[in-house]
Amino acid sequence: MIDSHCHITDKRYNADEVVSTFAEDGLEAVVTIGYDTATSIEAVRLAEKHERVFASVGIHPNEFTHEDSLDGILPLLSHPKVVAYGEIGLDYYWDEPERDVQKRKFIEQIELAISARLPIIIHSRDCDGDMLPILKSYAPRITDGLVMHCFSSSEELAKEYAKLGFYISFAGPITFKNAKKGDIIRAVPDDLILAETDCPYLTPMPHRGKLNYPAYVRYTIEKLAEERGVDFEYMERLTTVNAKKLFKKIVDFTGEKI
Ligand SMILES: [Zn+2]
Repeated sequence: MIDSHCHITDKRYNADEVVSTFAEDGLEAVVTIGYDTATSIEAVRLAEKHERVFASVGIHPNEFTHEDSLDGILPLLSHPKVVAYGEIGLDYYWDEPERDVQKRKFIEQIELAISARLPIIIHSRDCDGDMLPILKSYAPRITDGLVMHCFSSSEELAKEYAKLGFYISFAGPITFKNAKKGDIIRAVPDDLILAETDCPYLTPMPHRGKLNYPAYVRYTIEKLAEERGVDFEYMERLTTVNAKKLFKKIVDFTGEKI
């Protein structure tokens, strides 16, 4: 089992303690995500320390309110355990920084990820009208993969992104009562579906309201299996294989076998 998107460098955790149960939890690997320079560096340090931890680095759109330069990210890109670039994107739920700044920084980082030959992890919130055209225009150049993390848009958009060959990742909210995400979950082809926790946020049922952990990715996989009419083992294997296909450098450490 792989948690394709978590933030275990968060202050709420004792990261070493969280990682210590991965083997018994059945977690083969997790990708811990940076959202600014400091957390990107921390993610890499944690990945250096723990076999099953991998890192993604980049600057989240809303972090550009206090940070401008990508200079701190550059030296991390060729690290053997940095498996992706992100999370980057657009977030119009918040007014700061203004949309033009977000777009400029987003595009700058897409270019950087492409030149570093890293798959891209996308954060997309309340910005569908801008996100799709940008990603469509870059799709021919994004040859190392891309994932729409914590997908929360429509079935139509899921199909559009899948057509572009992009992965779609689901998190805890699909387990919530009244989520009604079945059609969206079924719209994603087998070879493009991923599961994640985005912990410490978005704790799935039955632990909703408490702190989230990478091991809880199991509940999201269970829900995906239920909605797609397959058994848990099949879904678990599928999301693991897909995570390894997208985040290719994981295989250098774990091998293809699951
Ligand atoms: Zn995240």
